[in-house]
Amino acid sequence: MSGPRTVRAARGTTLSAKSWQTEGPLRMLMNNLDPEVAEHPDELVVYGGTGKAARSWEAYDAIVRTLETLEADETLLVQSGKPVGVFRTHEWAPRVLIANSNLVGDWATWPEFRRLEALGLTMYGQMTAGSWIYIGTQGILQGTFETFGAVAAKRFGGTLAGTLTLTGGCGGMGGAQPLAVTMNDGVVLIVDVDASRLERRVAKGYLDEMTADIDDAIARVLAAKAERRPLSVGLVGNAASVFAELLERTVPIDIVTDQTSAHDPLAYLPEGVTVDEWRELAASDPESFTTRARASMAKQVQAMVEFQDAGAEVFDYGNSIRAEAELGGYDRAFAFPGFVPAYIRPLFAEGKGPFRWAALSGDPADIAATDKAILELFPEDEHLRRWITQAGEKVHFEGLPARICWLGYKERHLAGLKFNEMVASGELSAPLVIGRDHLDSGSVASPYRETESMADGSDAIADWPLLNALLNTASGATWVSIHHGGGVGIGRSIHAGQVIVADGTALAAEKIARVLVNDPGTGVMRHVDAGYPRAVEVAQERGLRVPMLE
Ligand code: NAD
Repeated sequence: MSGPRTVRAARGTTLSAKSWQTEGPLRMLMNNLDPEVAEHPDELVVYGGTGKAARSWEAYDAIVRTLETLEADETLLVQSGKPVGVFRTHEWAPRVLIANSNLVGDWATWPEFRRLEALGLTMYGQMTAGSWIYIGTQGILQGTFETFGAVAAKRFGGTLAGTLTLTGGCGGMGGAQPLAVTMNDGVVLIVDVDASRLERRVAKGYLDEMTADIDDAIARVLAAKAERRPLSVGLVGNAASVFAELLERTVPIDIVTDQTSAHDPLAYLPEGVTVDEWRELAASDPESFTTRARASMAKQVQAMVEFQDAGAEVFDYGNSIRAEAELGGYDRAFAFPGFVPAYIRPLFAEGKGPFRWAALSGDPADIAATDKAILELFPEDEHLRRWITQAGEKVHFEGLPARICWLGYKERHLAGLKFNEMVASGELSAPLVIGRDHLDSGSVASPYRETESMADGSDAIADWPLLNALLNTASGATWVSIHHGGGVGIGRSIHAGQVIVADGTALAAEKIARVLVNDPGTGVMRHVDAGYPRAVEVAQERGLRVPMLE
């Protein structure tokens, strides 16, 4: 009988599998379950509630066993975290093909999914949990850095220096906000009801200072804003009350957003309830708690809309607070946009998205060398330089050393080929894996998030991520995955992933030159098709063939 145990990927150059092409997926599966990386490794849960790396410990053992013996012309098929077959293919084919959590449309609901999961027939794969390319909290920090960078580019001349951001929620994901703003040189005031969440972020270096006194908080952030000095201040308080009070006091706030857990009304603390009363009250009377939470969200969102009326840049950060505030009776809740249509889509139109790589050696020096290579490859990209330099100083690795940065169409392969050369020359001590999040420009259909408000109304069309996966399979990726339900839940998204091993061989270089061009190319294609002019320009400038443009 196999059961929970502590898993950690091997380091160094001794292989357990027959080649690096299978050692790569093996180490990355194990890395997803490393206690430094996974939220609940005993249950095989990597992140995002219940996102798992394998269906059961028996399935995990069978995947490991199979990868250790898989040949260079064989392909392992994984069905929702369980290995189900090995087939003879060829050396250009992926070594692993993965399908996670997929259900036929009419059955794609949480209750039906949970019923099937309880029968042992499926598993929730999230995005990078079941596809073995999660790299810990660096991913959310970089995504948040990118969003605030895009806000800076759109509205503030490329920097947040001299601006003040107001936000709520300093939890698991929201806790990346203060560091992401200061890395963009801005000042941020972040409000959380729970002092322990703020304390934890101060201890980890994500938040500079905290106070429970609103006058003190205002004085600190205004001083820093006036000096154009980056600073993050946490304020213990209820965002509904604090946002309204700051509006009334006409504090000069430039940017407003929120990452309290508004998507779940029982996880948003209404005004008038203390943190100590929270759990019991939510459990004993969920209905009236929900009503009170929505009323408070309505008050908070009203303040956000009025900040926008007064000229601030305001956006919803993917937590459904607009929808909840509307249910709470506030009818202008949708007066400000979601963050994807507002800031991320212009990047998606260029094929830009969360490119990432991990060092199979386990040696942080390998990532330092790749950081240097990235700076040399893209010397003119100031935003990228800011991220890579500060990430090198401030990001603590969790599990295998890894790096993420946003690169676009006809950029990613330059990095991939350079890395492969560095493996071949011995400059890196072992191969790298190169992949990305499923939240990318051409690989996701998710109408509440990544594909909200597409220009042509194609939000729910899911052919695009399927074509992306097929093309990556045809182009030489090492493992390819098709998932349902990641990010926003069952019934709400379909998305695909790819990872490629750079083992320093000439064959790997040929595959990289195709995969890392084609994969972001599908993002440009998708946005050309939806009618985004910038995508059309990128296709024409960088040589992407789109038949309907010819
Ligand atoms: P979390 O539960 O870890 O943290 C939420 C925080 O909000 C907690 O610290 C809690 O104390 C605080 N909070 C609750 N009610 C409050 C109130 N009234 N005033 C002030 N603080 C309050 O959640 P998380 O993982 O940080 O995620 C936050 C939200 O962001 C979720 O809704 C999540 O779905 C969303 N999210 C969106 C994206 C995206 O699309 N970019 C990514 C990640 C998370």
